Amino acid sequence: MKLPKSINYFYEYYLNPGFGNQRYILPSHVNFPITDNCNSKCRMCNVWKDKSENELTPEEIQTIYSNKLFKNTKHLGISGGEPTLRKDLLACVEAILTALPRLKSLSITSHGFHPTKWQRQLPLIVALCKKYNTFFKLNISVDGIGELHEEVRRIEGGWAKVVETIDVAKSNNVPVQIQCTVSKHNVFGVNEVLHFAKSNNLEYIFRRATSINRLYNHEITNEFFNSNQDDSFFADFVTSTSVTHTTENPGRRLFYKDLAKRLTVGGNRKAPCHFQYNGVLISAHGEMYHCSIDEEPLGDCRTTDPYEVYFAQNSREQLEALLSSTCPSCIHDQSGAWNPILIINEVLSQKFPFFPKIKQLSTFAFANLKSAFGISPRNIGISEAKNTAQAHIIGAYGGEHVGDSAILGGVILRIAERHPNLKNVVVYSKRPDRTKFWVRGLDFESELTIVVKPYTILNALEASAKDVLFWAGGPIMEMPIDLFEHLKTIDCFVKNGLRFEIVGCGWGPFKTKYSRAKANSILNKAAKVEMRDKYDLPVEYQLNQDPAFDYLLSGVHKEPKISWSRKKTDDFLDKVKTTQQDTLVLLNLRPIWDKYNKSNQSSAELDDQVVNEVFQLIKKLPHHVALISVPFNTDHYGFSDMEPALRLKDKCTAAKIKNFHVFDRELNARDMQYFLKSFDLGICMRFHACIFMKSLDIPVYGIDYTAGEIGKVGGLFKSFNDDNWSNIMDLNHKQILKFIERQ
Ligand code: SF4
Repeated sequence: MKLPKSINYFYEYYLNPGFGNQRYILPSHVNFPITDNCNSKCRMCNVWKDKSENELTPEEIQTIYSNKLFKNTKHLGISGGEPTLRKDLLACVEAILTALPRLKSLSITSHGFHPTKWQRQLPLIVALCKKYNTFFKLNISVDGIGELHEEVRRIEGGWAKVVETIDVAKSNNVPVQIQCTVSKHNVFGVNEVLHFAKSNNLEYIFRRATSINRLYNHEITNEFFNSNQDDSFFADFVTSTSVTHTTENPGRRLFYKDLAKRLTVGGNRKAPCHFQYNGVLISAHGEMYHCSIDEEPLGDCRTTDPYEVYFAQNSREQLEALLSSTCPSCIHDQSGAWNPILIINEVLSQKFPFFPKIKQLSTFAFANLKSAFGISPRNIGISEAKNTAQAHIIGAYGGEHVGDSAILGGVILRIAERHPNLKNVVVYSKRPDRTKFWVRGLDFESELTIVVKPYTILNALEASAKDVLFWAGGPIMEMPIDLFEHLKTIDCFVKNGLRFEIVGCGWGPFKTKYSRAKANSILNKAAKVEMRDKYDLPVEYQLNQDPAFDYLLSGVHKEPKISWSRKKTDDFLDKVKTTQQDTLVLLNLRPIWDKYNKSNQSSAELDDQVVNEVFQLIKKLPHHVALISVPFNTDHYGFSDMEPALRLKDKCTAAKIKNFHVFDRELNARDMQYFLKSFDLGICMRFHACIFMKSLDIPVYGIDYTAGEIGKVGGLFKSFNDDNWSNIMDLNHKQILKFIERQ
C-alpha cells in the first residue's frame, strides 16, 4: 500500500533508522560525478583544468551499483564535470537503472551548452526512466542571465545554448531545475535568475559557492564571496518572500533560513544532510567518499567490495571526524530530512501568513507580561561605567537601504555638532551585519568612532552619566514590538537620569491605537524632539530637513578606493559608453506598496501602468541616450527595485531596443555618490533616489508613488519649487521626454 507523502515522511523520519535517526545505514542517496571532464571554465571551479581518463565504464558502473550496499538506494544524482561529454552517457544511465531496482528518482546536472546532444539523448533517457519507473529531472546550471552567465562560465555564446537546452527539455516534458551557484561574480545577478525562472515556470535553487573536494577549488576560494555584504545580501535574498513564496519544498526553505542565519550571525549548521548517515559519493574513478566535501576516499570500489568499504572501521572513523570537524561549518546544499515538526511549522507559516504573526504576538505578550511583573531584563539599572561619553542610537535599524544609510550619516553629523563631547557612537541594530555594511560606506571628518552592536546588547548596557540615547533617523511608526522594546530601553535611560532625544525622525503611519499610544509615550519622554516633516504631534517639536541632505551635502565624502565594487561599477559604465550612448539617464523605479496606494486601482495595475509608460518613453528616446536602471533598494522585504527594471528589460529585449540597461549592484552611500556623478539626468521614484540626485545637482524628474494623493516625492519637489514631477496616476511619457529634451 502506498502511504500519502506526508504520512510516509513521518514514518520514514521516526521509524526508518538512519533517515532521521542518525544511524549509519545503507545509502538511500548517491551522488555520482560521472566524469571529471568539463568544457566550461567556471570561475569558482577547477575541475575543467585537467583531462580525466580511465573513468568507470558502463559495465563497471553496473557492477558497483549492483552491490548489496545500494539495495536501498532511492535517489541518484549524476553530475560532473559535464555528463554530456561522456559518449556512453546513455549506456551509463541504463547500467545505473538496471543495477538499482529500488531507484525512485534520477537527476542529471548539466551546464546545458550542448543542446544538440540533449536533443538526441534526452528522449532516450526519458524512455529508459519510464521503463524502470524512475522519475527523471534535468538540472541546468544558470549562474546569471545572458552575458553574466557567460562571464562566470567563460563560454562565449553559451547563454543561447542554455536556453536552447531548456527548450529541448520542455519539449520532452522533462522537469527542469535551474541551479545557480552564487559567488562574488554574480551575487547581484540573483534577482534576474529568479525572474527568469519565474517567467519560464522553472523550479530553481540558489547555493553559495563553497570548497568542494571533487571540484578541486580549494585554492580559488577568493572567487567565492569577498565581503560580508555579499553574505548579507544573499541571506536577505534567499529568505525574502520573492524566493520563499515560490520555493515549494519546505525543506529547502528551512535550509535557506538556516544558511541565512549562519551567514549573518554565525553558528553551526542545523540543516540535516543525507550524506551524514545514509548517503555516499562514488567518483568517476570508482572511489567512495562520504560526500563531496569529504577529502579522503574511503576506498576504491573497483578493487574492493563497496559494502566492505562503506562499513569498514576507517569509514566510520572518518565519518566521526567529518561530523565533528566539517559538518558544523558546511554550507553545501546537500539536503536531508528535517524534523517533521519543523516542516509542519514551515508549511503552516507559508500557507497561513497569520501563523508566524500569532507566534510573534505570543512572544510579544509574554514580554509584556514579564515587564508588568518587573522581570523584564531591560528594567535593570544602568551602571556607572568609566568609559567616555557615548551616543546610543536606536531606531528601526537592520532593514535599511542606501537612502536610510544617508539618513544615518545625517543624524550622526547632527548629533556630533550638537554634542561635541559624544565622540563614540553606538548604533543598535536588529541586523548588525546589514547596518555595518552601510556604516562602512559613510565618511566623517571628525574623529568619531562608530560601532554597530546587536540591539539585544541593551539588556546589559553599561553607560556613563554623560551618555545620551537618541531615537535617530526613525521612523516612529506602526511597529508594535519595536515600539514596546525601544520604550523599555528609553525608560531605562530616563529612569537613571540620562538624556533621551529624538533626531531627524519621520512619524507614522499607524494602524493601531497601541502603537500610537506607545509612540506618544516615546515623544513624551524625549528632552528634545526634532522631526523631518510636518506632523500633528502632541508635543512641541523642531522641524528640520531630511537628515540625508545633511550628509549628502556635507562634502565629507571620499573618493571610493579601488575595490571590487568600484571595478564592477566602472566596467558597467565603460560597457554602456562603448555603445555610443553618451547621455546617461538614471532610472529608478520601485514597486508600489499597498500602504502607499490611496487610489481605486490595485497596486499591480499601477505597477503595470508605470512599466508601460516608461517603455513608451524608452521607445522614443534618441539613440545617443542610455536609460540605466539603478536600484536604490535591491531587496527590501521582498519588494525589490529590480522587479520593474527586469520587466522593462524583458520588453526591451523583445523589441530589440538597445539603449536600456540594468545595473544590479547594491551600492553603499560612498559608491552610490561616485556612480551617480556619471549621470546627466535622472527619473526617480524612490524618495531618497531623488534626494541623492538633487544633492549632486543632477536634474531629476520625480515620480510620486503615493497613488491618489501627494506623497513624499511630490512634497520634496514642491519644497524645491520644482515642477518636474508627477504622481504615478498622471504619469505621461511625453512629459518626461520633454524634460529630457529640455536639459
Ligand atoms: S560535510 Fe556537508 S555535505 Fe558532507 S556530510 Fe557534512 S553536511 Fe553533508
